[in-house]
Amino acid sequence: METEFENLIKLQKLDIEIRNTSVLLDDIPYQIEEIDKKSEESLKIVQAAKDNFVQNQKKRRGQESELQDKKEIIEKYKRQLNGVKTNKEYSSLLKEIDETNAKIDFLEEKIIGEMLSADDIEKEINAASKKAEEVQAELSRKKEVIFQGKDKAEEKLKDLEAEREELLPKIPSDQMKLYKQISRIKNGIVLSPVTEEFCTMCHMRVRPQMVNELIAGTQIITCENCGRILYYVKKSG
Ligand SMILES: [Zn+2]
Repeated sequence: METEFENLIKLQKLDIEIRNTSVLLDDIPYQIEEIDKKSEESLKIVQAAKDNFVQNQKKRRGQESELQDKKEIIEKYKRQLNGVKTNKEYSSLLKEIDETNAKIDFLEEKIIGEMLSADDIEKEINAASKKAEEVQAELSRKKEVIFQGKDKAEEKLKDLEAEREELLPKIPSDQMKLYKQISRIKNGIVLSPVTEEFCTMCHMRVRPQMVNELIAGTQIITCENCGRILYYVKKSG
């Protein structure tokens, strides 16, 4: 059965749908931001591993050049050995050679260590790159879905707004005035369906006589508790 304010009920449904769709749309930039952040994070991990590799190579080049220097020093000492005049000079040179050789051993060990960690870092780079690629693919899929949803929601919103524009002239101005008044106070939820004698919004029991008037649907009745416009909905099932 049609009430005298059927169009007001339609308006309420439209306004709720418009609001829900707008909320959905408003949230999209945050979702995109979140995805971009995750994407950046995965790339940062790759970059950190690459930076690590550069540091490793730099360190190793330093050690190799130091090693080269030490080897040249040894050669120099060996040449000097041929020209020494005293035992003291001789043994002091041998001592220098021993010490330099020890440093060479130490450096060679270090270089091997850096080479081994270079292998590890390369593995890290590969693993992080692979992971990042997977993450990027997954995220761009997600983004695609969000953008599709956005297009749909925008289209829906346009349709709803158009429908609303079409509906407004059909609503009597006194009803519209009341609607706006209650909307301001009740945060957009102006109408409340009554099923089984209860106001759906505030759960207040509606007096039986009032229910009969609601069923007749000839006049606007507001809830005695929450002040919303009531309308009767037959219990389904
Ligand atoms: Zn109520």
